[in-house]
Amino acid sequence: MKATELHARASADFDAKLARTQALLQQAARDYAPVLPGGPALASLACSLGAEDMVLAHLINAQSLNIGIFVLETGRLHAQTLELMRQLQATSRAPVEIFQPKNEAVVQFVQREGQDAMYKSIALRKACCQIRKMEPLERALADKRAWITGLRREQSDARAEVPFIDDSNPHRLKFNPLAEWTWGDVWFYIQANNVAYNPLHDAFFPSIGCEPCTRAIALGEDFRAGRWWWEDEAAKECGLHVKEEVERSALTPPSLAQPSTPNAQPS
Ligand code: SF4
Repeated sequence: MKATELHARASADFDAKLARTQALLQQAARDYAPVLPGGPALASLACSLGAEDMVLAHLINAQSLNIGIFVLETGRLHAQTLELMRQLQATSRAPVEIFQPKNEAVVQFVQREGQDAMYKSIALRKACCQIRKMEPLERALADKRAWITGLRREQSDARAEVPFIDDSNPHRLKFNPLAEWTWGDVWFYIQANNVAYNPLHDAFFPSIGCEPCTRAIALGEDFRAGRWWWEDEAAKECGLHVKEEVERSALTPPSLAQPSTPNAQPS
C-alpha cells in the first residue's frame, strides 16, 4: 500500500501550519541571503531525502527561495535513496550539493574495524557516523549561518520540545519549519503536491538512514524504531541534532569561523 494512501491525513489547522512553515522559510531566505549577488546562500536545507525533507525541498523550490540544499551521501545509502538524490539534483531549482566522507578515513576505518562495525558497539557505530556523517556535515555547514531541518516534535520523545528556531548555537541558527507537523500532514502535502518520495516509505520505512542501520517497522512500533534498532533508545540521538554547548562568539564572520560540531544527526 502506498504511504500516501496509508498516512495522508491533514490536521484541522493544516493551512495555518503550512503558512507558518512558509513564513519561516521566507525568513531564513531573507535573513541569510547571499553576501554578494549570485553568491551562495548562507542558509541551507540538510536534506536526508526522507519524507519531511522532500516536503521542505519542494517548498523551497515552489517559493523560489534563495536557500541551498545539501545531501550527506554516506556511502551506505539504499539504492532507492541514491536514485531519489539524483532525481532531486536533476529537478531542483535550488542548487543541491552532495557531501561525501573522506575516502581515506573510510578505508582506514573499514580496514581496522570491518564493514559492519556499527553492530559491534555503540562507540564504533558513533565512530562510523562521525566519519560518514558528522565530518561531512561540518564541511557542508562551514560557510552557513543557518540551516534548515525536517525535525518534528512528534518523531520521538527526544524531539518533543523542538522549537521552530533553535538559537542554542549563537554561531549558527537552526530552523525547524515542520516542528508542529504530524506525519499525516507530511503525507497530505506530498500527496496534494505530487512530491517525489523514497519508495522505501511504501515498504514501512518511516525513517530512512543508511542501509545497514535502517529496517522496516511493524504496525504499532515507534516511528524511529527502525533506526539503530539493536541499541537502547537513549543512545539513538547520535549526533546531528544533539544539543551542543557552543562558546564561540556569534560575531565571528562566517568566512573566519571554525567549523562547529553541528547540532548533530541528519535524521
Ligand atoms: S547510520 Fe550506520 S552506516 Fe550510516 S554512518 Fe551511522 S553507523 Fe555508519
